[in-house]
Amino acid sequence: MFQIPICQQCGYKWSWKETFVKMFNFKNKLRCPSCDSFQYVSKKSRNQLSLFVVFIPLLIVPLVSFGISKYFILTFELVAFALVLIWMPFLYKLSNKDDPMW
Ligand SMILES: [Zn+2]
Repeated sequence: MFQIPICQQCGYKWSWKETFVKMFNFKNKLRCPSCDSFQYVSKKSRNQLSLFVVFIPLLIVPLVSFGISKYFILTFELVAFALVLIWMPFLYKLSNKDDPMW
């Protein structure tokens, strides 16, 4: 769970910052900063990432039904999103070839 992505071509360990920046081009194909080969984000980590994107907004539902103040919920959501963003580079698993989408 807390493993930094490793290039499958040259074994270079991507830093948190490098992965974080690359994350924002929203592509499955990422260029290794060390050997310049293309690395693909594995299907498993893509699935985990989309799970978070769906799951966090869903957390609002039980909070609202417990009558918790919307300011608290808003703060909670922002913190949850920030934590996921910080954590996301650790969820990336690299592969030399692209997995089929399904
Ligand atoms: Zn590499």
